[in-house]
Amino acid sequence: MRLLVAGGGLAGLVAAARALELGASVTVLEKGDRPGGSFVYSSGYIWSYRDLPTFRREAPGGDPDLQALVLGRLEEALSWLEASGGVILSRETGNPLTFGARFDPEPTAAALAGRVEKAGGQLLLRRALRRLLTAEDGRVRGAVVEGEGGRDEAAADAVILATGGFAANPELVRRHILRGPGRLLLRAHPWSAGEGFLAALAAGARPGPGLDEFYGRNLPAPPARFGPKLFVEVSQLYGRHAVAVNLRGERYADEGADWSETALVRATALQPRQRAWYLLDAAALRRRVRERSVGEMVEAARRVGGTVLRAGSLEELARRLGERGVPAERLLRTLREYNAAAEAGRAGELRPPRSGEAPVLGEPPFAAVEVAAAITHTIGGLAVDAGCRVLREGGEPVGGLYAAGVEAGGLSAGGYASGLAAALVLGMRSAETAVEEAG
Ligand SMILES: Cc1cc2nc3c(=O)[nH]c(=O)nc-3n(C[C@H](O)[C@H](O)[C@H](O)COP(=O)(O)OP(=O)(O)OC[C@H]3O[C@@H](n4cnc5c(N)ncnc54)[C@H](O)[C@@H]3O)c2cc1C
Repeated sequence: MRLLVAGGGLAGLVAAARALELGASVTVLEKGDRPGGSFVYSSGYIWSYRDLPTFRREAPGGDPDLQALVLGRLEEALSWLEASGGVILSRETGNPLTFGARFDPEPTAAALAGRVEKAGGQLLLRRALRRLLTAEDGRVRGAVVEGEGGRDEAAADAVILATGGFAANPELVRRHILRGPGRLLLRAHPWSAGEGFLAALAAGARPGPGLDEFYGRNLPAPPARFGPKLFVEVSQLYGRHAVAVNLRGERYADEGADWSETALVRATALQPRQRAWYLLDAAALRRRVRERSVGEMVEAARRVGGTVLRAGSLEELARRLGERGVPAERLLRTLREYNAAAEAGRAGELRPPRSGEAPVLGEPPFAAVEVAAAITHTIGGLAVDAGCRVLREGGEPVGGLYAAGVEAGGLSAGGYASGLAAALVLGMRSAETAVEEAG
């Protein structure tokens, strides 16, 4: 059977390698100038929650069948990836809620790409899927492909969409996620602009749950400047040790709502200019998150030109933010209210409430870091079943069309789950279903 895989990120490379093992003839279209997608910028942790109840609790809007698929097949898929040349750095995730392994992204992506080519697959760079071709019965039978040499048609018995969602399309992000004006920073490669998603909708597919959700991080706000290789290093992942205020000087979210701080980043995206200030005292700067201290993360923001202010008192901190346009009086009121509630052990009664630890902001010197919400990938995408078949409005599959990785929506709606695990497990599964159904 002839299989077309659109997208050469982790999901696409895995789907291609697995389909070749199963005897398919495979062409991978990759829009960018290299394979690997966002995987090569990532920390490489491929993980699942430990059990289904935890998965349900952490991503309650997600599809339980897809969650059970990732949970049930991850161990086997990690072994497959290692046997396919993936380089394991650690068999720990460092998070008691999860299990999995950490892979070294660049050599692992290179090994997968090499495996695809060695097995006779074609890996075409700078070639983008623009549209799906369908037969009269609605079955997908190929795609319109655009490359440097122009447009042509590629016939296929099945197409797997592994095109990574629409994080890099500001208009789709405004329509579905921001639901209004604004722009998120992009914490990913620039090629996932929603072409796979839109092509599938045009072929009769429907979106799955969580279309207004995204996974991302708060990054140092402009004028900070940094390239994609610094995405991990400059991420400001310590909201739970800070007090987060918007440009109006108000707390706008529960800083400690979830371990991955996904809710805080999403809330930041809905604030004026998609920005916020993280306010810290000396005790918070000494706290550790994974292998770094908060102070080191703040220093990383400063090194790339981010705005970091220091002050000897809360009054001075408010004054300094006032010079940057934040109403100083209101900010001081916010901080005094927060401190009073934290001191009394009643931070859960604040509006918005503060869950988890709620340290008083009291030990000088103080710091303020300006952050902006950045999108790594969309959470919603195409509705798929547990065989990765893309579904129509009525629940019937679009014949010959499958989706994997970010493009398959609905795994982690309502929260967050490993995007790399979705790429690995759904990549394998989509290939198996496509080959099986082609007979
Ligand atoms: C800094 C950073 C750290 C991360 N850390 C982790 C982590 O530790 N653990 C974790 O689980 N996740 C992590 N992630 C997320 C993870 O990298 C992604 O979820 C995962 O790589 C997505 O894989 P994918 O193949 O579905 O999509 P992508 O990697 O986005 O790949 C999609 C591919 O499709 C191509 N494409 C797009 N449109 C077209 C088209 N029209 N035609 C042809 N090709 C097209 C793109 O060029 C791209 O190569 C991180 C991401 C970043 C950026």
